[in-house]
Amino acid sequence: MPAVTTDNILSLPRISGTDPAVDRPRPVVGVTSAPSGFEGEGFPVRRAFAGVDLAALDPFIHMDQMGEVEYAPGEPKGTPWHPHRGFETVTYMIDGLMEHQDSNGGGGMISDGDTQWMTAGAGILHIEAPPEHVVVSGGLFHGLQLWVNLPSSLKFAAPRYQDITSAKVSLLSSPDGGALVRLIAGELDGHAGPGVTYTPITLLHATIAPGASLTLPWREDFNALVYGLSGKGSVGAERRPMTWGQLAVFGQGSSVTIAADESQDSRDSAFDVYILGGQPIREPVAAYGPFVMNTKAELIQAFEDFQAGRLGTVPASPDDRVPHGEVNGSTP
Ligand code: MN
Repeated sequence: MPAVTTDNILSLPRISGTDPAVDRPRPVVGVTSAPSGFEGEGFPVRRAFAGVDLAALDPFIHMDQMGEVEYAPGEPKGTPWHPHRGFETVTYMIDGLMEHQDSNGGGGMISDGDTQWMTAGAGILHIEAPPEHVVVSGGLFHGLQLWVNLPSSLKFAAPRYQDITSAKVSLLSSPDGGALVRLIAGELDGHAGPGVTYTPITLLHATIAPGASLTLPWREDFNALVYGLSGKGSVGAERRPMTWGQLAVFGQGSSVTIAADESQDSRDSAFDVYILGGQPIREPVAAYGPFVMNTKAELIQAFEDFQAGRLGTVPASPDDRVPHGEVNGSTP
């Protein structure tokens, strides 16, 4: 798992320890296992939020772990052109390459620790696929796509594209150097991540060495979610076991704790987790396919606007892999 790493963790800024006199460790209210499925043209995903109440996820809607999969030559798959409205897609690539192009002129290649933050807002069409040379060669593919909701006042924001390269990510160390934190967006213990968010959100990827523990101060008005990417460990002061492919939902409090088991499976050198939280939006959610709105009437409007070409049009491309005209409205 390359993402972005460091040669000398002790040279990084340290996250300060929590003060036991005032800290209220968040309890774990649930650990769920992500079921496997397929997305787009048939790439394997794990539905990280399956079976979890939307109110506990708010302001997040949906998250897919893409892979981890080792593709044979010719096997890598992506999505066809499809629309979105009313929210943001946040794609984090850990291994492999993903190419993105949208009807607003945004796009680019992301790999090994890059995040692409796309605000669909009022509407956009996009395509997400491995580049041609990766389709030919195959290889390791592992990433995440998170859907971040927008409040009603921002659902029609202008589409926006943030290219958060791995070099921009803020690297931090736990107090004892046992965990590396890659702060992607938002604020953590006075440190700022590069990603700009419409509502208050904190997003990070942590690698916790075997036997080490990571305690993060966490805003009391945020929810707190931890998804296991690889390895195994435990969550909360109660040390509830969790592994890769599982999601932990924390209750109220001022800090979250994640620990890595001393003994890891041979393929994992650490416990890697994606940690996310934000201020809940607390608005009605009407979500269907690629649209996340507040009401059913707005969903119907989104489909009508898409059919009428008002969410954008597929740009001309010399790349004949792109299935022009085959826009699939039902693909998330
Ligand atoms: Mn999409």
